[in-house]
Amino acid sequence: MPSPRQVAPPLIALQDVRKRYGGQAQGDGQQPEVEVLHGIDLRIDAGEFVAIVGASGSGKSTLMHILGGLDTASEGSYHFDGHDVAAFSADQLAWLRREAFGFVFQGYHLIPTESARENVEVPAVYAGAPQGERASRATALLERLGLEGKIDLRPNQLSGGQQQRVSIARALMNGGRIILADEPTGALDSQSGAEVMALLHELADAGHTVILITHDREVAAQAHRLIELRDGRIVHDSGARNALAAARALPALDVAEAGRDRGASFGGNLREALRTALRGMRLNRSRTGLTLLGIVIGVASVIVMLAIGEGTKQRVVAQMGTLGTTIMYLGARGPASGGPPGPITPEDLAAIAELPAIGHVMPVIGDPITVRYGRADREVYVFAASQDMPAVHHWKLALGRYYSDAEDRDLAPLVVLGHNARAHFFPGRINPLGRQLLIGNSPFEVIGVMAERGSDSGAESYDDMVFIPYRAGRARVYQAQTQPDYTVVTAASVAQVRSAEAAMRTLLLARHGREDFAISNPAAKLQAEAETRSAMTMMLGLVAAVSLLVGGIGVMNVMLMTVRERTREIGIRMATGARHRDILRQFLTEAMLVTWVGGTLGVLAGLLVGAALIAWGVPVIFSVSAMAGAFMCAVATGLIFGYMPARTAARLDPVVALAGQ
Ligand code: ADP
Ligand code: MG
Repeated sequence: MPSPRQVAPPLIALQDVRKRYGGQAQGDGQQPEVEVLHGIDLRIDAGEFVAIVGASGSGKSTLMHILGGLDTASEGSYHFDGHDVAAFSADQLAWLRREAFGFVFQGYHLIPTESARENVEVPAVYAGAPQGERASRATALLERLGLEGKIDLRPNQLSGGQQQRVSIARALMNGGRIILADEPTGALDSQSGAEVMALLHELADAGHTVILITHDREVAAQAHRLIELRDGRIVHDSGARNALAAARALPALDVAEAGRDRGASFGGNLREALRTALRGMRLNRSRTGLTLLGIVIGVASVIVMLAIGEGTKQRVVAQMGTLGTTIMYLGARGPASGGPPGPITPEDLAAIAELPAIGHVMPVIGDPITVRYGRADREVYVFAASQDMPAVHHWKLALGRYYSDAEDRDLAPLVVLGHNARAHFFPGRINPLGRQLLIGNSPFEVIGVMAERGSDSGAESYDDMVFIPYRAGRARVYQAQTQPDYTVVTAASVAQVRSAEAAMRTLLLARHGREDFAISNPAAKLQAEAETRSAMTMMLGLVAAVSLLVGGIGVMNVMLMTVRERTREIGIRMATGARHRDILRQFLTEAMLVTWVGGTLGVLAGLLVGAALIAWGVPVIFSVSAMAGAFMCAVATGLIFGYMPARTAARLDPVVALAGQ
């Protein structure tokens, strides 16, 4: 009965593998094509201990990169456990590197910012192993390799031999069925070199497939099979000792797993990316600080500018409310060219009232006059105006009624009292309606009392006044007066205050032939002021947004620098099984972290500056949406400007990255 191993495909089978470099436009122009491997046929079975020996430049490393799935052949076929590796996707190749192979390099290739244990854990991170399990396995491996007490040290605190043992532990982290060791003793003293070789022997005896690359024949002689490479060709092969190898080989991997592999869970991966991101930020404190500053200033200034803009707007709106938003004043005035002031005639006022943009037209005569009731007498401001007065001033009656236009035309002697005037002439609970007041020398009947208006912006308090019909006032009190003191004209709506003024001016110019009148329009002035301010706020907001953009470019700059500085780290992560998206996520997380922290600090700084401004008396109104908007802008900036460098990192070729600085 044949054993299953005899029918199983070889672990590694290369057929006429060629590797060419150059030939197409690359970076700095066209490079001549060179063939480095000239048709390699090679079969390695599970459990073998193979040494590939050859002079420097003979193509050993190139061959190893192809075997380990770090690089692909230009021509020929590579079957791993019967599966054509050429058909593997990038993620499946990452799976192969992570689950099947363990790399040991001449230069150790440890991540300099991570501790020994963290370096060993890297392949398990990308395999999605839980944190606790990872740490205990890494610790156990390091202790087994004689590194107890060195577990939390960083590579630069370890000797070369110790670093190489860390990298062997890393190669074993996910099982390391096939150890690919490229000149593992090349940089070591003979003592450390012997220790590393002893370790490889142990692994081979334990059933790992070990492929050892060396230019040292003595080292090579320790393997069970010797393959000699010269100028990209195999010139000697001592032959496999398959029976021996097969007997002790570790059970085979299920390569079909590669296709099903989902890798690390999103959460675990994110935690790991955050951890490395935080470490990176700590290690580059001043650079991180400056980048943060850019974002903080951007976010804070957007928030403060918008808050000031809103505060100013609200203050103007409040002022417009107290003044009456649509009120204009029309008076007679001598023209600039000289001459008497033009009288404003009742016909003028009737014509103005016809204009579509005009609401009310209310002529006013007012003066302090002696008013008597019984034995009480008092100087009171007597306000003679049309029946529009309550509507113009948005004022209600507390008692009785206001006079009508008909009563005004009939010169009816009626009076409405202000709140204080009533209290003065009719103290206590006396009902004033129907009583007669003597204004000047004429009796007027009280028909109403106005609601209390309270403190107002006017010089005289309206509450102290009494109100009489315009025509009755002219006929009975202000006989000397031929035209109103002034006329209150309202625009039909807040939006029309300026068009109403213009229409009125045009009409009066046409009627009078010269500008012998004056219009004052406080509402329009406030509106113009509000508009200037909101334009200013827009401008400042724009400047703030630009500074946010500059902050974003700062993030991109820093990320590009980070990617360049950490090219080798990226290569190491890829060689130990990171997929493109793991790398992308890691660098994107770093960019996002900067902008999240910067955005949060920026919101806090904005609130602080705003609070200081409030203390200073500047009108500031914070809006949650402005804060959320600025924060989201910062985060979006990080995402957009962080994406490019992160993608650059993820697209690096693992072999090129490993060779990088
Ligand atoms: P070894 O590991 O045996 O010293 P390598 O496999 O590193 O040799 O290199 C084999 C040959 O391929 C060398 O001549 C080297 O210059 C060339 N080579 C390696 N990598 C590249 C590359 N990326 N571009 C061009 N030539 C390369
Ligand atoms: Mg080499």
